[in-house]
Amino acid sequence: MYDVIVVGGGPAGLSAALVFGRQRRSVLVVDGGRVRNAPAAEMHMMLSRDGFDPAELLAIGRGELAAYPSVEVRPGTVVAAEGEREDFTVTLADGARERARRLVLATGQVDEPYDIPGLRELWGTGVFHCPFCHGWEASGRTLAVVAADPAEAMLAAYLADRFSDDVVLCTHGTEKLPDEITARLELRGVRVDTTPLTEITGDPGDLTVHFADGRTLRREAVFHKAPTRQHSDLAAGLGAEILPDGTVRVDELQMTTVPGVAAVGDTAKLAPVPAATTLVVLGAADGVRAALWMDGDLFRADLERDGAP
Ligand SMILES: Cc1cc2nc3c(=O)[nH]c(=O)nc-3n(C[C@H](O)[C@H](O)[C@H](O)COP(=O)(O)OP(=O)(O)OC[C@H]3O[C@@H](n4cnc5c(N)ncnc54)[C@H](O)[C@@H]3O)c2cc1C
Repeated sequence: MYDVIVVGGGPAGLSAALVFGRQRRSVLVVDGGRVRNAPAAEMHMMLSRDGFDPAELLAIGRGELAAYPSVEVRPGTVVAAEGEREDFTVTLADGARERARRLVLATGQVDEPYDIPGLRELWGTGVFHCPFCHGWEASGRTLAVVAADPAEAMLAAYLADRFSDDVVLCTHGTEKLPDEITARLELRGVRVDTTPLTEITGDPGDLTVHFADGRTLRREAVFHKAPTRQHSDLAAGLGAEILPDGTVRVDELQMTTVPGVAAVGDTAKLAPVPAATTLVVLGAADGVRAALWMDGDLFRADLERDGAP
């Protein structure tokens, strides 16, 4: 019986494990090894690590955990979780079953780019989802934004506002945008092309967007806020409340609606926050926060068990 099983070994899960390890808690981290920013060569917005290789960050993190003997990091996938506070059981894909008093879900999200050849292949290297993560590097470049959903079209206006005076919004067949959005795009000088796309070819920095009518458009970078889904449905399986956008509802202490189960990083959200704020540093902070409060909860539970008044 571990004190805690952490499912997911990205920045959020490893940060939780670090705190647990330092507090001499026995903790098992089970990690499928597919962190969300793996395709990107650099990560930004983490003070002291701006421009760092995401894989190196994780390798350093795992190295730091090795100093704490009560922490075990195991490659694998958790396929099921059940139980209640003080006695959870998780089942791994290899059939192993492990028990813990508490669970931390740090399973992240998965991006699902539109089914346009090239978009997925260039994801994170030539096609980017986030102006905070990649906008600076796109400064002064020729940009296209692929967004069929009018709700995502404003990304083009934002990029034109901050980073480039040559932004084309490709709506991939969506003919009509709300007047208010069209007005804002015009105000920032964004050109709109409604023709469906057939392919994106080329290499990072030198891309060609192919349209169904045979035209092509050379661009130095493409932005596309791909739809996302949860990397795992363990939280739902445990009965945790899932918010309408698919994220796991947590409170200010990172606890889900299931006693003894926390959720951290990209997978989790406070209900009033308009959208999941999915960044490495915030995931790491979530992990630390969850572990601090969960450790205190374990401490109090043991005092009670031992007859404390
Ligand atoms: C292309 C790209 C570039 C980005 N660039 C930046 C950037 O510059 N700066 C920044 O701050 N953020 C960036 N992000 C966002 C950043 O990647 C995420 O916010 C961050 O990775 C979230 O950390 P996490 O630990 O919550 O999830 P993840 O890092 O996604 O880790 C989740 C882990 O859980 C594992 N897992 C999932 N399900 C299971 C299961 N059932 N059993 C076992 N393991 C499981 C996964 O395999 C994975 O290893 C970028 C995202 C993308 C897509």
